[in-house]
Amino acid sequence: MEVKTSLLDNMIGVGDMVLLEPLSEDSFIANLKNRFEHNEIYTYIGSVVISMNPYRSLPIFTPEKVEEYRNRNFYELSPHIYALADEAYRSLRDQDKDQCILITGESGAGKTEASKLVMSYVAAVCGKGQEVNKVKEQLLQSNPVLEAFGNAKTVRNDNSSRFGKYMDIEFDFKGDPLGGVISNYLLEKSRVVKQPRGERNFHVFYQLLSGASDDTLKKLKLDRDFSKYNYLSLDSAAVNGLDDAANFRTVRNAMQIVGFMEDEVQSVLELVAAVLKLGNIEFKPDSRSNGGDESRIKDKNDLKEMCELLGIEQSVLERAFSYRTVEAKLEKVSTTLNVAQAYYARDALAKNLYSRLFSWLVTRINESIKVSNVKNIFCFILDNSFEQFIINYCNEKLQQIFIELTLREEQEEYIREGIEWTNIEYFNNAIICDLIENHQNGILAMLDEECLRPGTVTDETFLDKLNTICAEHQHFESRLSKNSKFLTDHSLPHSCFRIQHYAGKVLYRVEGFVDKNNDLLYRDLSQAMYKATQSLIKQLFPEGNPAKVNLKRPPTAGSQFKASVGTLMRNLQTKNPNYIRCIKPNDKKASHIFTESLVCHQVRYLGLMENVRVRRAGYAFRQAYEPCLERYKMLCKRTWPHWRGPLFFLEERRRQCLQDLATLIQKIYRGWKCRTQFLLLKKSQIVVS
Ligand code: ADP
Ligand code: MG
Repeated sequence: MEVKTSLLDNMIGVGDMVLLEPLSEDSFIANLKNRFEHNEIYTYIGSVVISMNPYRSLPIFTPEKVEEYRNRNFYELSPHIYALADEAYRSLRDQDKDQCILITGESGAGKTEASKLVMSYVAAVCGKGQEVNKVKEQLLQSNPVLEAFGNAKTVRNDNSSRFGKYMDIEFDFKGDPLGGVISNYLLEKSRVVKQPRGERNFHVFYQLLSGASDDTLKKLKLDRDFSKYNYLSLDSAAVNGLDDAANFRTVRNAMQIVGFMEDEVQSVLELVAAVLKLGNIEFKPDSRSNGGDESRIKDKNDLKEMCELLGIEQSVLERAFSYRTVEAKLEKVSTTLNVAQAYYARDALAKNLYSRLFSWLVTRINESIKVSNVKNIFCFILDNSFEQFIINYCNEKLQQIFIELTLREEQEEYIREGIEWTNIEYFNNAIICDLIENHQNGILAMLDEECLRPGTVTDETFLDKLNTICAEHQHFESRLSKNSKFLTDHSLPHSCFRIQHYAGKVLYRVEGFVDKNNDLLYRDLSQAMYKATQSLIKQLFPEGNPAKVNLKRPPTAGSQFKASVGTLMRNLQTKNPNYIRCIKPNDKKASHIFTESLVCHQVRYLGLMENVRVRRAGYAFRQAYEPCLERYKMLCKRTWPHWRGPLFFLEERRRQCLQDLATLIQKIYRGWKCRTQFLLLKKSQIVVS
């Protein structure tokens, strides 16, 4: 059996890209490949962990492995996500530094799994005892609940997270977890009513139909057969390797552990059932109407059952599907809905119902896991998925943080400390963030402006506006740029624009932008929901309370998202970052396949080569003077045993002490196999590489 003891005598490739010789993109990829083929899915770039998705279970996440990595130094053992988790946890516990773990990569690269591994590692190594165990269990079990309601099978990932999640875990001074807070942002709610080909609706629908008892289904007035429901796509209902029925039991169990009461679970399931019923309500033109622009419900059975489930009077909902009332300051005007508008209203209600249920679940979980006395914080940020544009904006911002901290600040630090430094070029994506979020003429601002403008607003008028204003931006392209001769690409389809994101060019179809940003739900419907006797649904539509008619427009989806991304970024910047960069080895969700071109693309856009170059040119380890002296004072005569002599506080004297110490440590390091340099810095730091 091969025994690996450290990075330096690791036989499979090179464990830390910083030590790779010679360094080139080819050797970088070859090293990843070599390691991947030998089941070494983790590789470092200094303290950054690259994680390759193995697409099969490897025996490297056992309790024995946890023990192996526990309390060991980061570089001591072969690269592992546990080493990062341990480092972050110890620095939180022992040095009082709040930590955040940023996990990035494309859909299916392994972000969600990585976050679960980090969480389970931390849970395994932190405090014991009944109370602590309960907190841990609740934190861990929030995952299956949120995944059931927020994940779905997509073309890229059978368990794709369709919402952004940010989780804080709070610890006390001993390093025991006290609880946590989860923030969710923008669930991809359009999935509730329509799924792209080959994809499914959220897991919970299939889980409920497959896993609930006959009795439960009868109470919910549901049929086991997926094909009975308009909102469930037919072509991909069963997914290989996903056991919906078993997962339903896991979710029920998790809800119980997290602290949901039985009647709350019941209400949640009623709402899920109501969404399915809602999707089956269909409309036809009303033959009695004169101009044909009124609609009627085809078959009222589903409507009736949905109303029974939620305790809504049937006539109230029926009316809300037939009319739209617009309230202005002095008057109320009702207009009839035609068939298309009735369908629109139905789908808007389903999307709102489901997404509000999801937010409620998060709030409810937080009630269980929250703590009042916060000390140290450990937080995760995962990918999110909304409409592509919004996800990409968020990823762009995360990349920006990575650039700021690992590329820009790192380089600036050397310059500040007066160390000789040759600048390393990298692409700074601030310009793309600005294209999207600039409050005057960013794409989001223009979308808002369009949504608020009176008169006929369509996706096309929005695109026209983009064409006029963004045409000269070097990362924006469209077919019809009005002002510019340069960035017009006639090969682009109509009604589209393209953004050159850091991760590559992405084409966006403007269809639906205005509508999704407005996120309009007719007031008649929220008022109908508010009249329900089932208390959960009433709670979800507070604006339906007739006593609280609010004529102000709610904020648009885009501006809400921009605000939450802003808060998130400010929050992340106050914490010590730890990075996991996930890479997808192939597009087939297959194990053992390493598609070089695909990996190369990811390595490029993640900026990993630049990352290695900066790390190589720089120093791998740094420490401030004082703790270094404290730690190593016994190593040399001048600093031990009488090191705090009267002269110590003189700058010159301290400098000499450090110099002696530096020379000594340098000698020790020379005996090792690694490249060693030691430098005494001018201002505040000692750096060893
Ligand atoms: P992402 O969140 O980045 O979209 P996931 O974390 O959901 O991707 O991973 C997609 C799939 O890849 C998982 O459902 C699982 O099958 C597989 N996978 C990811 N990471 C691992 C791992 N460490 N070990 C085994 N399989 C994994
Ligand atoms: Mg995910």
